Amino acid sequence: MSVVSRFAPSPTGRLHLGHAFAAIQAHDHARAEGGAFLLRIEDIDGTRSREEHVAGIVEDLAWLGLAWDGPVVRQSARLDEYERALADLRGRALLYPCFCTRADIAASVSAPHRGPDGLVYPGTCRRLNPGAAAARVAAGQAHAWRLDMAGAVAYAGLLTWNDLVVGTQIAEPMAFGDVVLARKDAPASYHLAVTVDDAAQRVTDVVRGRDLFRATDIHRLLQALLGLPTPVYRHHDLLLGPDGERLAKRNGVPALADMRAAGVDGVELAAGLRAGRLPIGFTARDA
Ligand code: GLU
Repeated sequence: MSVVSRFAPSPTGRLHLGHAFAAIQAHDHARAEGGAFLLRIEDIDGTRSREEHVAGIVEDLAWLGLAWDGPVVRQSARLDEYERALADLRGRALLYPCFCTRADIAASVSAPHRGPDGLVYPGTCRRLNPGAAAARVAAGQAHAWRLDMAGAVAYAGLLTWNDLVVGTQIAEPMAFGDVVLARKDAPASYHLAVTVDDAAQRVTDVVRGRDLFRATDIHRLLQALLGLPTPVYRHHDLLLGPDGERLAKRNGVPALADMRAAGVDGVELAAGLRAGRLPIGFTARDA
């Protein structure tokens, strides 16, 4: 089967060197095998996504000399697909509505339990009477949909996935608790949308940063629940700035658009990143 990889940025800010590094890895991974490279815009978060950043992403990739295959897929155009997956899980009682606010959650836990992704939800709304919860949903009360993690894991059994760098992993999604699959303010969560889309786009190799390594446990579980194929994964090192921190706008990393405007040659920059020539002070590390 021919390799299909993708770059899937969220248009919530301008791309920087770390994004260039990630896009090049995903692109070259597929191209080295004569495979396809796709571009997906993860603009499901309507409150934070900006059209100007979508245009910027397209310009930045072209400037780096990275060409993608087929049309650019936008998650905002795929909400029906996410709703179909949610309805499937809801119909099997694997989801429950959660009415908690962040403040409710903070107030309800005396000894907060932290998972790989922050605070683990204490399960308050899982214990609501289902009829009463359904009535609150019908009455239009704001709610998220959470996965009943224990029920999901019981259904799916033991799951593994393969990382091309570090090998076979046993998925431990329980550590995340009852994750949100549809948010109060967005029709699907990152975890649901990314899993549905990687399958729909027939992505065979997910190449992305190590920051998403453990999240793959959740994606693997969702694949099992939804009957979707499991790609192989390659989680690459992250670029760290001179301060040893992951690159982010807040630590003053220049945007690719600024480098472009300053006359930097994007293709040369990409060649340098490929050859491991990083700007002074930057390192690529397993963070
Ligand atoms: N949209 C995610 C991000 O920008 C990346 C998703 C992925 O590669 O799985 O962090």
